[in-house]
Amino acid sequence: MNLRLHITQKETKDYLLAQRRFTVVDLDMSKDYPQPFVCILPINIKAGIKSSNIFEGLFGTDSIKIAKQLLEKGLKSKYDLETTRVIRDRLKQLTPRPKNIAKCINCSKDFEYRTYRFGRQKTCNDCLTQRATRY
Ligand SMILES: [Zn+2]
Repeated sequence: MNLRLHITQKETKDYLLAQRRFTVVDLDMSKDYPQPFVCILPINIKAGIKSSNIFEGLFGTDSIKIAKQLLEKGLKSKYDLETTRVIRDRLKQLTPRPKNIAKCINCSKDFEYRTYRFGRQKTCNDCLTQRATRY
């Protein structure tokens, strides 16, 4: 398979509402759109076992990886500025935000800390609950 993105703009009267349709095409099937149509690239992609759309059904646990590759290829293609922005937004949506990880000062386990107004959490939740039940 030689997958590419094919982006078309939906015609709407309101410019702000102009939407772009992201389609996945397979250039091995045919070079002329719309014959090589594979499926729509959904906005939300989960790489789970249960697929909620055709894209996830086709690519399963590779869904996010393949979607990212397609979007990155799309960035290299010469689309207009607005379309490029939408591609970037979609890529960002597929990249999980790095979590705030710190080492617990009590058990030195890595945990996801929360920030407060005067600093951030220094003991992990397990140690916090242990301490709370001790008294
Ligand atoms: Zn701890």
